[in-house]
Amino acid sequence: MPEEEKESKIMSSMRPDGSRIMIRTADVKGRYIFWRRVVFALLIGFYFAAPLIKINGNPAVFLDVAQRRFFLFGKTFNAQDFWIVLLFALTFVFSLLLITAWRGRVWCGWTCPQVVFLEALFRPVERWVDGSREQCLKAAAQPRSVGKVFKFIIKQTLFLLLAALIAHASVAFFVSVPVYIEMIREGPAAHLSPFLWTVALTLLFFFNFSWFREQFCVVLCPYGRMQSVLHDQDSVVISYDYSRGEPRGKLAKPKPGEEAPKQGDCIDCKRCIYVCPTGIDIRSGLQMECLACAQCIDACDEVMQKLKKPKGLIRQASQQELTVGKRRFFRPRIVIYAVAFLIAFSALGFSLARRQSFEVQVSRPPGLAPWIAEGSKIYNQYKLHLVSKQPEKTLYKVEASFLEGADIIVGPPQAEVEPFSDIHIHIRVGIERERLREIFYGEEGQSPTLPEVQMRVLNLQTQELKKTSIRFIAPGKSALQEKEGKP
Ligand code: SF4
Ligand code: SF4
Repeated sequence: MPEEEKESKIMSSMRPDGSRIMIRTADVKGRYIFWRRVVFALLIGFYFAAPLIKINGNPAVFLDVAQRRFFLFGKTFNAQDFWIVLLFALTFVFSLLLITAWRGRVWCGWTCPQVVFLEALFRPVERWVDGSREQCLKAAAQPRSVGKVFKFIIKQTLFLLLAALIAHASVAFFVSVPVYIEMIREGPAAHLSPFLWTVALTLLFFFNFSWFREQFCVVLCPYGRMQSVLHDQDSVVISYDYSRGEPRGKLAKPKPGEEAPKQGDCIDCKRCIYVCPTGIDIRSGLQMECLACAQCIDACDEVMQKLKKPKGLIRQASQQELTVGKRRFFRPRIVIYAVAFLIAFSALGFSLARRQSFEVQVSRPPGLAPWIAEGSKIYNQYKLHLVSKQPEKTLYKVEASFLEGADIIVGPPQAEVEPFSDIHIHIRVGIERERLREIFYGEEGQSPTLPEVQMRVLNLQTQELKKTSIRFIAPGKSALQEKEGKP
């Protein structure tokens, strides 16, 4: 470890004066890095393919914020479905709490976009240009030269291209790929807003992945800072087996006639530190900077293999397991998080299953009281608000029913609604005053019962039916008497 890194007492990536130490990780081989690379490839593949793949004629993921419609894996949502987003967010948060309490920061090490893009794209490019960690540190100690400047320019150019690629894919989630290609063809002047977004995201990603890197996880990310309250002694985290590893020290052969010094399995080679993306020494115990990437496990396993000792000096284990020898899964926080997750997940599943392709809401036009028309009929007027969530034009049929003999006018009884649009349908219901009087005031002193107007809306494309109802308002008894004489 360079002298300047040893001096740091605050953070592994910071000198005591607050200036930055750029961490150059050593490459590592092993089972964890192999499976992480498989996961990284799948996630990056999904990220770039999601706006391109079509399901039911629409992109697999298309967040059309401008039109307030969202396409997710063949389903379409609109602004009325915002509560589903809330349920989804709750499910995600509770699953994160549960996984963290159970297995530590696996989200960070395996699936967080910050780690995925950095470790799968930017770090390999850096190694390809700059060489191994040792070569990097050697070059850093040498004075500036044409070769160094050339390498720097090549590396930063490649970083900028990668950042631009990620930024373009990000914007494609919001404008769809064909529209985006058309926008690029027409030039920035014609589409200033998406152009500025793309430039801003490119610069942000470039800054983040070329320089800021692990500082995002250590300094900015709120999830990282909450670890101490999410873990407990039974959480399975990246752990150094202190009892097996200590006392650490370089391998030394005893001199003839001397007793071999008591030594643990750790040979203090520091490979576990050199491969760590946040530059920490896991032998000092679990630290806030640990991303649970397991690179130190792979590195130490490699060393143990060479020494012909059992793997697992650094391994995934809980603190209890290392001290008492027992792993405990069920404990109050796991049960609470699991129950909360199951509730949120069930509510989300139920809501998605019950979700319909349209919404209806019926109301009375404000200020419009019941009125008497055609001499002897009492009329009510209603307004039915129909919101279609269909991605194509859809025909709806609207029906209303009331008491036998009621005069009902639905305007229009069938309506074609544009994709993700809404319409208002007016419904007028009239009933003979005498009939109404009988129902309301049939017996002296009887309290009025208010009959309801039933409405049915049928999606003629999907045959989905929605029913709703609203009360019929009648004038008071005296008003009826005034017009008609004695009831
Ligand atoms: S890699 Fe293993 S042996 Fe080497 S310093 Fe780390 S814990 Fe010790
Ligand atoms: S200590 Fe190990 S698991 Fe934690 S960030 Fe460093 S290398 Fe990854």
